[in-house]
Amino acid sequence: MTTKKPIPVTSPLLPPLEEFVPYLERIWESRILTNGGSMHQALEKALCAYLGVEHIALFANGTLALVTALLSLRITGEVITTPYSFVATGHSLLWNGIKPVFVDVDPVTFNLDPARIEAAITPQTTAIMPVHCYGTPCDVDAIGRIADNYNLRVIYDAAHAFAVGDTRGSVLRHGDLSVLSFHATKVFNTFEGGAIICPDARTKQRIDHLKNFGFVNETTVVAPGINGKMNEVSAAFGLLQLKHIDRALERRAAIDALYRQRLAGIAGMKCLSRPSDVRHNHAYFPVLVGDDYPLQRDELYHLLRAENILVRRYFYPLISEFPMYRGFPSAAPDNLPVAHTAARQVLCLPIHPDLPDAEVDRICDLLTAHARVRAA
Ligand SMILES: *Cc1c(COP(=O)(O)O)cnc(C)c1O
Repeated sequence: MTTKKPIPVTSPLLPPLEEFVPYLERIWESRILTNGGSMHQALEKALCAYLGVEHIALFANGTLALVTALLSLRITGEVITTPYSFVATGHSLLWNGIKPVFVDVDPVTFNLDPARIEAAITPQTTAIMPVHCYGTPCDVDAIGRIADNYNLRVIYDAAHAFAVGDTRGSVLRHGDLSVLSFHATKVFNTFEGGAIICPDARTKQRIDHLKNFGFVNETTVVAPGINGKMNEVSAAFGLLQLKHIDRALERRAAIDALYRQRLAGIAGMKCLSRPSDVRHNHAYFPVLVGDDYPLQRDELYHLLRAENILVRRYFYPLISEFPMYRGFPSAAPDNLPVAHTAARQVLCLPIHPDLPDAEVDRICDLLTAHARVRAA
């Protein structure tokens, strides 16, 4: 055992408490706690400006936003998706009675491989649900072309992609809808929260109805909607957090650069490469523990955890390996070889805005030392 202070894989962006108090005072004065109050309205406006999008609908969490996004487009039948993601991606399909069809991922980005999508399309296919994994943009052009050719909808699970941009603007403008998560572990958080990026005011209005039980006015209910509304305290926290987000993103970028510099020489350990023409958010720092590293991934995982360095294996197990997915024909491991290799090798190292350089150094020293011990 070690007495070293635990280093979590992530830690929430928490501005000074005294900065939050005035927001709470305003909520107490207004006595409006939810149902689209002034904080909710202000956060929607502020996020549209910050993210460079036109319409956004806030949610109580990202999973309800995914479920509602599918419901709003009346998606049924089969949806093509990735096994290499957090389990909520698949669950949102099952909650809508949709059959997930897993397609393997690209070996460089670990995002849905567009070259493999067409072979998975059947007459029942209605949509594609890709994930911008670790915030790396999907091949949005290729996915868009396939969707056009086969008349499919595209709903991006963009839970990792807050503030990510490509050469032409926000990555969130692609597809029919994009869904964000503002969970405490994400780059931008509202304790719990989420959002749907909508292409136009009409779509947003339908989604706003669906997140409020289907109410369009006091007496009219137009759909079996859900309660997915974000409350005023969460929205206020989002407003405060936006004031600190640029500093947090800068710090993440610096940690990412330090890891890359320190880990560059280690045989058998590979950092994920990232397209250079993209504005990244450095939400995660995944490394691949290859066969030529002296320790297996799980040995390294346990060694680091014994040192109180709380690394995580995102994404192991694959969604397709969980019992409610295993039985689908597309979940067969020989259909998903790249995803299985990624899940076997990946280790996410700690990265968050309050992580000091000295801690990054300690982690890198351990990774280097273990590489040398066995090699010697
Ligand atoms: C976090 C996450 C979700 C779920 O978001 P919640 O806000 O926790 O409900 C969905 N998909 C992916 C890829 C995620 O990482």
